Amino acid sequence: MALRHTFRSLWVAVVASAAFLVACSVQAETKDPRFITIGTGGVTGVYYPAGIAICRLVNRARKENGIRCSVDSTSGSIYNLNALRDGELDLAIVQSDWQYHAYTGTGVFKGRGPFKGLRSVLSLHSEPLTIVARRDSGIRKFADLKGKRVNIGAPGSGQQATLEVLMHQMGWTMNDFAQVSEIKPSEQSQALCDNRIDAFVYTVGHPSGAIKEATSSCDSVLVTVDNPAVRALVRESPYYSAAVIPGGMYRGNPKDVKTFGVRATLVARADVPDEVIYSVVKAIFENFEEFKEQHPAFQHLEKKAMVSEGLSAPLHAGALHYYRQVGLLR
Ligand code: GLU
Repeated sequence: MALRHTFRSLWVAVVASAAFLVACSVQAETKDPRFITIGTGGVTGVYYPAGIAICRLVNRARKENGIRCSVDSTSGSIYNLNALRDGELDLAIVQSDWQYHAYTGTGVFKGRGPFKGLRSVLSLHSEPLTIVARRDSGIRKFADLKGKRVNIGAPGSGQQATLEVLMHQMGWTMNDFAQVSEIKPSEQSQALCDNRIDAFVYTVGHPSGAIKEATSSCDSVLVTVDNPAVRALVRESPYYSAAVIPGGMYRGNPKDVKTFGVRATLVARADVPDEVIYSVVKAIFENFEEFKEQHPAFQHLEKKAMVSEGLSAPLHAGALHYYRQVGLLR
């Protein structure tokens, strides 16, 4: 009887201390590290390495900010904005045109209505609408895509949505192509070089791994995207601008190529705590030269432009606080 009693006390003690340990670790998890996830894009694009570069700097200051930052590889802007709104992501990198449309509830976001809880944080590199075609397809300008096999980008990608805007402006539909595919960026170069498609569309910063892969694995050319419809879009929309992909950046493409583009922007939900967003922008701006070296597409970044251009949703309060503190904004 006495023995049984001892056993029972021992058992109670074990259970109690295990419960205490669990409670402690739960407290440490919820109180100490704060987990944030940044939605990016395909692994061969620029969003993904950009997200990794941001997280690296944020995580390095963990003793000070208590943040554990990680990235999600996604299909791109439209997916990211929907996931942000659904609370699946805390921050995301998205095209400036889709940031605008998500905030105002227009374009592809008409059905969901305005995303009033969307906040801008900063803008990054510019992203020209880039079309790469097989050299033997004869495609040199956008109009040549008629009757061809075109990869329009994965569902949820920024490029598919922006291409649709341009085609609508031109009075084209997807039926103008002989074949439409939605292959993801990491597989589109292979599809091009295997002659399964004639061209692919990608809104991406330069230089990028994806375009390097396509131009070095087989004979391919960057296509000019410049016509009255493009010029009208640039004239009428604050988030589009004329763009040039510099000659000599990719094998077999020595000349500048005219197109139009947007900016890559970092956005967040308004309810992500101010101190978290403050720590994110602080980590980037305090280590700015190092950040710029993380990707060749960041070479021309300038702090002033990053806190003002391409941002149509209101600035997140945590970002604004930092920008005012260091005199970047008044
Ligand atoms: N602009 C593309 C998109 O929104 C992503 C580009 C990238 O991953 O660098 O889908």
